[in-house]
Amino acid sequence: MNGYYHNSTFRIKEDAKQMKRGGRLRPIRKTHPESDARLKQDLTKVLSKYVCLRDPLCIVCRFNESTQAGHFFHRDMPSVEFDPRNVWGICGPCNYRHETEPQPMRDAVLARLGEASFADLTELANNHKVKLSTNELEILLSELVEKIGDQTGVKFRGVTKRRTA
Ligand SMILES: [Zn+2]
Repeated sequence: MNGYYHNSTFRIKEDAKQMKRGGRLRPIRKTHPESDARLKQDLTKVLSKYVCLRDPLCIVCRFNESTQAGHFFHRDMPSVEFDPRNVWGICGPCNYRHETEPQPMRDAVLARLGEASFADLTELANNHKVKLSTNELEILLSELVEKIGDQTGVKFRGVTKRRTA
């Protein structure tokens, strides 16, 4: 190996550059237009738009504008990953805080949903057998697109056109 290449200053600079480049140009995963992966990408986009329209103010602090769609139960729980009851308009700081301190968002979600609906959501989240079918995901997607259209008067674009099942 070239001695000069391992000069520490040079290395640090190079590493920093790499990181910056990685952050800016995060590669977009190419998915097949008819795949479930693409459907889920579209759902993420549409749900995020819907949630920020529904909750313009951060659900937790009720002060900052919502800039993110925050999952109450972690997005790794497939039964509630795209459930509008589980995804809420939230500001960056509150969403970050939720990772280590779930109580404030829990209180906020409970207040918005009410006891019964909150209990349903919790049960569904913990049910690891439930998995939405492609058809159910498609229905959810078109319902959300419609709801966004109703609220904005503009048809939401940017979702993949899929063959009708
Ligand atoms: Zn907030």
